[in-house]
Amino acid sequence: MSITTRFAPSPTGYLHVGGARTALFSWLYARKHGGKFILRIEDTDLERSTQESVNAILEGMSWLGLDYDAGPFYQTHHFDRYKEIIQQLLVQGDAYYCYCSKEELEQLRTEQMANKEKPRYNGKCRDSGGPQLDREPVIRFKNPVDGVVTIPDLVKGDITVANKELDDLIIARADGTPTYNLTVVVDDMDMKVTHVIRGDDHINNTPRQMNILKALGAELPEYAHLPMILGPDGARLSKRHGAVSVMQFRDDGYLPEALLNFLVRLGWSHGDQEIFSIDEMVEYFELEDVNVSASAFNMEKLLWLNHQYIMNSDPAHVARHLSWHIGQLGIDPADGPALIEVVKAQRERSKTLVEMAAASVYFYKEFDSYDEKAVKKNFTTGSEHVLARLHDEFAGVTEWNGEKLHQIVVNLAETMGLNLGKVAQPLRVAVCGSAVSPAIDVTLSLLGQEKTLARIEKAINYIRTLN
Ligand code: GLU
Repeated sequence: MSITTRFAPSPTGYLHVGGARTALFSWLYARKHGGKFILRIEDTDLERSTQESVNAILEGMSWLGLDYDAGPFYQTHHFDRYKEIIQQLLVQGDAYYCYCSKEELEQLRTEQMANKEKPRYNGKCRDSGGPQLDREPVIRFKNPVDGVVTIPDLVKGDITVANKELDDLIIARADGTPTYNLTVVVDDMDMKVTHVIRGDDHINNTPRQMNILKALGAELPEYAHLPMILGPDGARLSKRHGAVSVMQFRDDGYLPEALLNFLVRLGWSHGDQEIFSIDEMVEYFELEDVNVSASAFNMEKLLWLNHQYIMNSDPAHVARHLSWHIGQLGIDPADGPALIEVVKAQRERSKTLVEMAAASVYFYKEFDSYDEKAVKKNFTTGSEHVLARLHDEFAGVTEWNGEKLHQIVVNLAETMGLNLGKVAQPLRVAVCGSAVSPAIDVTLSLLGQEKTLARIEKAINYIRTLN
């Protein structure tokens, strides 16, 4: 059987990590089985759906690299088809017009609550047939009254619900627009979705959707309901736990692979392995290995993963992502060393690309001020002399490379009878503005001769103003 999965977000906000994990699991399942992955935008709620949110979803999918084989499809383009199916259900007696007023339904609900019964529609219009009132009716699905529905859930195992627990749900509102459960069913059927992989907040909808599919004579897909994601405090993950939007993780300096790796481990495991390349995820992913219970979001783990990916990914790849962050700082990467070299120099000490970019600004742009502590410690009268000597030496260099520069620093320390730090640290503060940078030879070779000389001159002048 060829496999088709889909990701079906409602565009009512940004793409959040829960949605992204659903998308990833659906994508992995399709990729693993040589199947098809569809993106379907469920935008029938006209009041809450926005184009901005559609864009955010598309941007998030593209940043994560979750490519789709078909779509994006928009449910708002399928209204005719939904109408057709609603008509079909009416004609075959599996749906009916309901004329009950809001007030009537409200009263019913109050009574049921008072009797400690589960609020549900009492089926008043179910068999009454034909229009009765001068009121636009809704259309309800005629749910079977007897028997049970069993969801053969690939994650949670069989879940059985008695039909008498299920309402005759509204499939078309009084204004004729179809409701969520109807549109999902029609699209899953038309798109020949074989595996519905989604959050377990949809479990209550599944038996209803299965009944509609049965009424339509459609083949039932397999279902896999994913456990929810919890914040560190055990409550359902939400905005108050910090970043939950996929693009916020991009902004905060995460690599997409690190986020994907983090997401795949939210509710899925493969032995003790923590780090998975995309290929490994595809190879090892099984819905059967998805946890039944909720999984907790652990920011520290994500940060650790990100650092691993920054250190171990192809520096050219990291550089492409770093470029965006450098651009965000208003810097043109063309004004300094190749980003790939910056990545190699900074990757051990940078847990995020935001950190890496911030720590690399001085390669491209003059800094405004020196770090105060670093100045106190390293810009002494003696250091003015050291810097002047270094300037002389560096000015004469014809081949600006790390090895040569290292030698100059070491030799000068020796000649002046100083330990290496007394030479390297003032030099570091002079060229970077602070006492933290990659190895001094690496720093200088990345900075280039011209900037190095100019910054040493500037530091000398600055030291003179201090003393
Ligand atoms: N549009 C639904 C949502 O965003 C998902 C529907 C589904 O996956 O069946 O929650």
